[in-house]
Amino acid sequence: MVKKLRQGTLCVQAGYKAKNGEPIELPIIQSTTFKYDDSEEMAKLFDLEKEGYFYTRLQNPTNDAVAAKICTLEGGVGAMLTSSGQAANFYAMFNICQAGDHFITSNEIYGGTYNLFGVTMKKLGIECTFVSPEASDEEIQAAFRPNTKAVFGETISNPGCAVFDIERFAKIAHKNGVPLIVDNTFATPVNCRPFEWGADIVTHSTTKYMDGMATQVGGCVVDSGNFDWLAHAEKFPGLCTPDESYHGLTYVKAFGKMGYMTKLVAQLMRDLGSIPAPQNSFLLNMGLQTLHLRMAQHCKNAQKVAEFLNANDKVAWVHYCGLPTDKYYALGQKYLPNGSCGVIAFGLKGTRETAIKWMDSLEMINIVTHVADARTCVLHPASHTHRQLSDEQLREAGVAPDLIRLSVGIEDVEDILDDIKQALEKI
Ligand SMILES: *Cc1c(COP(=O)(O)O)cnc(C)c1O
Repeated sequence: MVKKLRQGTLCVQAGYKAKNGEPIELPIIQSTTFKYDDSEEMAKLFDLEKEGYFYTRLQNPTNDAVAAKICTLEGGVGAMLTSSGQAANFYAMFNICQAGDHFITSNEIYGGTYNLFGVTMKKLGIECTFVSPEASDEEIQAAFRPNTKAVFGETISNPGCAVFDIERFAKIAHKNGVPLIVDNTFATPVNCRPFEWGADIVTHSTTKYMDGMATQVGGCVVDSGNFDWLAHAEKFPGLCTPDESYHGLTYVKAFGKMGYMTKLVAQLMRDLGSIPAPQNSFLLNMGLQTLHLRMAQHCKNAQKVAEFLNANDKVAWVHYCGLPTDKYYALGQKYLPNGSCGVIAFGLKGTRETAIKWMDSLEMINIVTHVADARTCVLHPASHTHRQLSDEQLREAGVAPDLIRLSVGIEDVEDILDDIKQALEKI
């Protein structure tokens, strides 16, 4: 009997196992609802007394199989797919925070999450404090308030490529009786499993490497089941006191380690409804089947490209934790010993216009907003996603005006290098 399957095998096989005579590929159950012969049986589903499908907003077999695969890859107890990575981060946080609460987040995070946390959640009455991933333990501790409910960071930050010290942040979060939530999008569970370092909840934008082919927008929340909510019951009334909208059921008492996940599905997904289409989950699963192969190739290619850029006279700086000169090299070796990801942040000597000239001279490499898929692509935040900001405002938002985000794909690395080189000759 096989004991514990390895990550590559899980990428291919976890989540769905065909029974005798069933399709070998995950079926797309593109149905909103599920039929029952007996009304009593359906009533039990509504009361969460029985498990089963009744409406796709809550659960769908295709979505569940893909969530189960990601859950297994991360080593969690439960997972839920969402229609985007944005929804995943919102749900993960909103499941434990309500108006009047506060949380702490690394300031080196994806721009969309920065806006969600700093602007939109503030309008819901939930405040956050941004701290540098390099802040000292004392500085992080000073950010805690009596109403702080969580700490958040990205394993590898988008677009800055900072490596988050998961173990250190987890210790500080736990000392203060709150969970650590880690967005593991760029590393993927092939290269890092944040639960092994003390993270309690993991989120993903599955739009990126997990899909890998740029076919669907999606997200995922995974729970480790490790955080003891009842030990801090006064902080988490949503999990530890009766939910009136579910006949007075108390999630962590009724469902134990699955309490956080049950609330996420039965309450937040029921009420806010950001589910992926089963068709999209099928596409995501196609991507996951080759995740381990692609990540290895992304890392191999990106390492060569980072080394080339680092040695080039026209390049001002390079951030990639696989470079021994990178300030995150040591943390990269600790958390990402087999490679980090394909994304490199770098700056060219010169002005914003130099970056634009270089990008416009590329022939094979694509200019797109997207990142982290099979095709090598490039983005200059100062002239694209953040174009309304002055250089000064950009720096305040943590984006260097000259920062170019190069997402190295899985093509032949010589072709990627040739294109980069010929464009460098034009500036
Ligand atoms: C893209 C991204 C998100 C947002 O995901 P969407 O699927 O675009 O909604 C969140 N976190 C990180 C690290 C990302 O790269």
